[in-house]
Amino acid sequence: MKKAGTILVIGLSLLLLLSFTGQAMGNAKNVKPDIKCKFFGKTPDGQYAYLYSLENSKGMKAEITNYGAIVVSLYAPDRKGKFADIVLGYDNLDDYIKETPYFGCIVGRYGNRIGKGKFSIDGREYTLAVNNGENTLHGGIKGFDKVIWDTTPFQNENEVGLRLTYVSRDGEEGYPGTLTSIVKYSLTNDNELKITYEAYTDKKTVVNLTHHGYFNLAGQGNGDILGHYMMLNADRFTPVDKGLIPTGELRAVKGTDFDFTKPTKIGSRINNKGEQLEFGLGYDHNWVLNRKDNTSLSLAAEVYEESTGRVMTVTTTEPGIQFYSGNFLDGTLVGKKDKVYKHRYAFCLETQHYPDSPNKPNFPTVILEPGQKYDTTTVYKFSTK
Ligand code: BGC
Repeated sequence: MKKAGTILVIGLSLLLLLSFTGQAMGNAKNVKPDIKCKFFGKTPDGQYAYLYSLENSKGMKAEITNYGAIVVSLYAPDRKGKFADIVLGYDNLDDYIKETPYFGCIVGRYGNRIGKGKFSIDGREYTLAVNNGENTLHGGIKGFDKVIWDTTPFQNENEVGLRLTYVSRDGEEGYPGTLTSIVKYSLTNDNELKITYEAYTDKKTVVNLTHHGYFNLAGQGNGDILGHYMMLNADRFTPVDKGLIPTGELRAVKGTDFDFTKPTKIGSRINNKGEQLEFGLGYDHNWVLNRKDNTSLSLAAEVYEESTGRVMTVTTTEPGIQFYSGNFLDGTLVGKKDKVYKHRYAFCLETQHYPDSPNKPNFPTVILEPGQKYDTTTVYKFSTK
């Protein structure tokens, strides 16, 4: 069966390759968009992981594996057109299996924390796997970042992409309902990494899917991100307790170290005294995004790295964004090309519903019911200035 699967995947990728070569001929200026697939490793329970390489017409590349739906690498141009891999990760599957702080994965079924690993729906209490002190973080002990997803590559004139599907069984990690999640990564010819999330359930449940890329716009492993300029389009954030569970308050950022409404160096206030920065060991909080409505893509964040000129612009349909400044990176993890990932060598911008929403009636709801479609989009766009 497994062998047959492997042959099928290789066959399909060859077919794709041939069709793309045909389509791209005659466009001399541009690179020909391309998808390749190779074996990436085997999980301890014998499942196969593959590594898909996507390349758009501008030469921007993403490597994505079906293990955890992880973006393993992402190559973006600097202001001189030189490409660098701008996300942290590993060269091989075994390292991801051994230890990862969620490098580049899709987090699910519930991204971020749920207080004490408990919540209720219609008067029934559910108890989750607890994996972060007394709380549940990023889906539990074996979240969507540690499972094998089904994949289908796709391409059209504007993009190359990979569609990943995972069916989470009723009761997995304690969550109710069979949840089918479909995540589409696409690399567009406008140098965007566009992620669309879809999910369906057969019982009322909670869902909060996000992408956990660790970005360093100077190149992965090339120093800390304290000099990057960060802009967050948010007038408020959700302060937390010492376990990083929101207190329920939506606090104004004006006049605080959390005000990123104008581009500000990440490092300029990160070591200031104050309860919130101390609880987070730096920035590890959810910002409440300013937006026009609940459904269209709105500007969430813009990050700029001066020496390379790289800019990353994040737009999303989600109401919140977790800005995590890589506070737990401490030099013990060695990643791609033997780069040592030291303190604050990357930042994460995880678009999401607010942490602990299942226990916070005043936060936007994260309930998904049978017959409803969970439908969100986030775009990470890369440019230079
Ligand atoms: C959390 C951090 C956590 C990191 C890696 C972030 O989303 O907010 O507290 O350390 O993920 O697990």
